[in-house]
Amino acid sequence: METEEKSLNFIEQIVEKDLQEGKNSGRIQTRFPPEPNGYLHIGHVKAICMDFGIAERYNGICNLRFDDTNPAKEDTEYVDSIQQDIAWLGFRWGQVYYASDYFEQLYNLAIDFIKHGMAYVDEQTAEQIAEQKGTPTEPGVASPYRDRPVEENLRLFQAMQNGEIEEGKMVLRAKIDMANPNMHFRDPIMYRIITSHPHHRTGRRWNVYPMYDFAHGQSDYFEGVTHSICTLEFVVHRPLYDYFIDRMIDFGYQRNPQDVEDRSHQFEFNRLNISYTVMSKRKMLQLVKEGLVAGWDDPRMPTVCGLRRRGYTPAAIRAFINTIGYTKVEGMIDYTWLENAIREDQKEKAPRVCAIFDPVKLVLTNYEGAGEDLVAENIDGHPELGTRTMRFGKELYIERQDFLEEADKNFFRLSPGGREVRLKNAYIIQATGCEKDAEGKITTVYATYDPDSKSGTEGGNRKTKATINWVECGTCIDAEARLYDRLFAVENPSAEEGDFRDLLNPNSLKVTNIKVEAALRNELHPVEIVEGIAQVNHYQFLKQGYFVVDPDTTADKLVFNRTASLKDNWQK
Ligand code: ATP
Ligand code: MG
Repeated sequence: METEEKSLNFIEQIVEKDLQEGKNSGRIQTRFPPEPNGYLHIGHVKAICMDFGIAERYNGICNLRFDDTNPAKEDTEYVDSIQQDIAWLGFRWGQVYYASDYFEQLYNLAIDFIKHGMAYVDEQTAEQIAEQKGTPTEPGVASPYRDRPVEENLRLFQAMQNGEIEEGKMVLRAKIDMANPNMHFRDPIMYRIITSHPHHRTGRRWNVYPMYDFAHGQSDYFEGVTHSICTLEFVVHRPLYDYFIDRMIDFGYQRNPQDVEDRSHQFEFNRLNISYTVMSKRKMLQLVKEGLVAGWDDPRMPTVCGLRRRGYTPAAIRAFINTIGYTKVEGMIDYTWLENAIREDQKEKAPRVCAIFDPVKLVLTNYEGAGEDLVAENIDGHPELGTRTMRFGKELYIERQDFLEEADKNFFRLSPGGREVRLKNAYIIQATGCEKDAEGKITTVYATYDPDSKSGTEGGNRKTKATINWVECGTCIDAEARLYDRLFAVENPSAEEGDFRDLLNPNSLKVTNIKVEAALRNELHPVEIVEGIAQVNHYQFLKQGYFVVDPDTTADKLVFNRTASLKDNWQK
C-alpha cells in the first residue's frame, strides 16, 4: 500500500510517458546485467529493485544478463550465487542471457565496422594509446595505424582471433573522432586479446573479447531491451551507446521492421554508497582472499549473502531500497538506515526471548518443589503471535549487572533492602544477599519470591519499577553470540588516502558465550525445515538486540549473530 501511494520515481515517469506515446510498440523490457566477477552487494540490490520493479509494475519483462566479457576475472561460482541471491530477494527473471551468447554476432558486427572503414587495428601499447587521448579541452593525437586499409584491418583482426597475436599487442578501435569533447568518442577500443584465461562458458573458442561499450548496448539491442537502466557513471558512455546502435541500424540490423523507433535507450540513476563499508568487488575480493573477513558471506560484508547471514530479510532490504529512493545526484547513505529497516521489519514479528550474556546465579531461598512451566507470550500483548513454555525453578541465571550489593536510590533493579523486582513473565522477588569468591566477585545472589505475584494471575498486575530477564539453570542452553559492528572505522573508507585495509574496525566482531531459554530448542527452533527448505527464524533477545541463528550451528552448539542492536546506540 505504501508503495502505491509513493509518488513515481523519475524513471517510472519516463516509462509512463513512453507508454503513453506508444514507444517500442508498447513493450517494456529491462535487464539486470551483472558481471560474474564477484558476489552481489546491497548496491546491486538497488539496481535489481529498479530493473525488476519497472518490469513488474508495467507488465514488462526483466531478463538476467551476465556481462561475461572478461574471462580473466569471471567464474561460474559467481553466476550461481548471483541467481541464488536474486531469487532469495524475491524477484523472478524472464530469460537468462550471457553477453557471451553474442560473441559470434558481435565479432561479425566488428567486421562490418571494419568493412565500413569505421574500425582499425592498432598496434600501439595501452600506454601510448592513453597518452594520445588528449584532455577534455585538447584534442587527441591520431594513431599511426588509424588509416590502414580495410583489407589489412580484416586480416589482422582475423589473426588476433586466430591466436596468432600475443595478448596486449593489438586492439581493434572504432574510428570516430580524436577531437571529440566526449573522451569516449576518441577512437574507443572495441576488442582486445585475452589468451591467458579460458572463458567459463566458451572455453578457448575466442581469443578476442569485446569491451563493455561494444557489448552492452548491442546485447540490449539484440534482446529487445527498451529501457537499459544503469548508474550515473555511465552518463558519459550514453552517446557511444547510441552511436553503436545507430550504426547497427545503418548496417541493416533492424530489430523490428514494423517499428523503426523500437530501440533501446539508456537511463541513469545514482549509485548506492553506504557509510562504514566498501562496495567495490575488487576490494571485497581482497578482504575475502586475505582472510580479513570470513568469506563473501561474512555477516559484516555488504553482500547479499552477508546481509542474509547477518539476519536481514528480503523484506527489510527491499524496504530500505524503497526508503532511499532514486535520484540523479550521488550521495552517501548512513549505515543506520539499513539497521532501522531490519528493526522495523522484526519488531512486531520476532519472538522476544531471554538470553543472559553475563550470567550470575540467583537462588530463590523460599522456592519449594521441582519447578514449574510458565506460559509466556512471544510478544507481550499479542497472544495471536504464539506462546511458549518458560521453565521456572529455584535456581536461575540473571544478568550480573542487574544486581548491586550496594545501590543508590536511582538503581531500580535487584539490591538487598526491600526493593521489589519482577522476573520477566514470572514472579516478583526481593534480594536478600549474595556470596562472593576470594577475589570479591559475586558468585550467587540470594532472593525470596512472592508466590502470589505470578504474571498472568491477579497478583501479576502488581507493578515494580524494574523487570529483569532470567533463564532456569537446569534447562537453559549454552550458546555462542557473535556481536557484529561496522566493518570499517571510518565513514568513507574509499575516500581516504592509503591502504583501505588499515581502516578496518578492529572491534567489528566480539564473540561471547550466553545462556538462552530452552524454548529455543524445544518450541522456537532456530531453523525449521518447511517443504525441504531451511527457514531461519529471527529473535529479539530482550534488552540485547535482534539475533538470528548462524549456519555454523551444529546439533550440540547454537551460534547466534547479532543482526542489530535494539536502538541506534552507535556514536561517532
Ligand atoms: P564493481 O565496480 O564493484 O565491479 P560493477 O558496478 O562493475 O561493480 P556490475 O556487476 O557491472 O558491478 O553491476 C551490475 C549492475 O549493478 C550495473 O547496472 C550497475 O550499474 C549496478 N550497480 C553496481 N553497483 C551499484 C551501486 N553501488 N548502486 C547501484 N547500482 C549499482
Ligand atoms: Mg561493471
